Amino acid sequence: MRISAKQAGGHATIFRAGSAYDRNAGVFTPLPAPLMKMHRGLKEAFDPARIFNRARLYPVLGAPTNRHIQAMQTNLAEFIRGTADGDEADSILRKCVHCGFCTATCPTYQLLDDELDGPRERIYLMKQMLEGAPVTRSTQTHLDRCLTCRNCESTCPSGMQYGRLVEIGRKVVEDKVERPMTQRLQCRLLASLLPNSTLFTPAIKLGQQVRGFLPRKLRAKIPVPEKPLAPATGKHARKMLMLAGCVQPAMMPNVNTATARVFDVLGIEIVTAPDAGCCDAIRLHLGYNDDALDDVRNNIDA
Ligand code: SF4
Ligand code: SF4
Repeated sequence: MRISAKQAGGHATIFRAGSAYDRNAGVFTPLPAPLMKMHRGLKEAFDPARIFNRARLYPVLGAPTNRHIQAMQTNLAEFIRGTADGDEADSILRKCVHCGFCTATCPTYQLLDDELDGPRERIYLMKQMLEGAPVTRSTQTHLDRCLTCRNCESTCPSGMQYGRLVEIGRKVVEDKVERPMTQRLQCRLLASLLPNSTLFTPAIKLGQQVRGFLPRKLRAKIPVPEKPLAPATGKHARKMLMLAGCVQPAMMPNVNTATARVFDVLGIEIVTAPDAGCCDAIRLHLGYNDDALDDVRNNIDA
């Protein structure tokens, strides 16, 4: 926190409370009116996105049980307590200190400006779900909107493994909330078509040929064919195995070629396994964890 404040040209004074610290101290007691006015002005100037705002956080989720910043307390429900996923989720949840640093780097929060579409709130939603609170379509929607980019992990001072937690959370929500039929079909179609290059590559090629005749929304999703880059040709003693992926070779083939060329310049030869396929991300992020494991096994065999 001190480093971040310093980088922003400011200063943070941090009090570290001992165990004998008076827990009833009025840390968050409202300020006198003139001071509060000044405080609001400063906050508006330094935190216009209102990232560090408890008032936006707690009305939705209930009042905090303790006034002091502390690691998350958990009490998992019976359905998941003692299971491998439950134990893992529990230890991940306990790392969170609600600081909200992650919120600032979350693209969905930046875009939607809703705390529930930021990592800190998603963590709370998953905590409540794992503690047995009712799970709704709204919970599912907020988890669906997460891109699983794991940008939040890169800013978390506690080393919170959000990516792993959301995998567990999505699995639980899929078991508890049934999606509407159209959405189930959409998910199944994406999970079957995208990782299957035998179907997906010709579909993209066809789409590129008729691109100009497609509705605007669909056209925007089909990339214009790229002029292929010359491949890397160097032979080096140092080699690196790279996963070519499933969708990328069809949609943006130059990305893999350019990567191989960069490594070539660095004296590393890129090799790919021809039988390798999808990395598993598509199916995992859609909640098909068992299918995703099949993708992993296939890549190990390849
Ligand atoms: S993984 Fe999800 S919550 Fe984390 S930064 Fe990306 S979109 Fe936000
Ligand atoms: S940055 Fe880490 S510790 Fe802070 S709220 Fe986000 S997940 Fe929790």
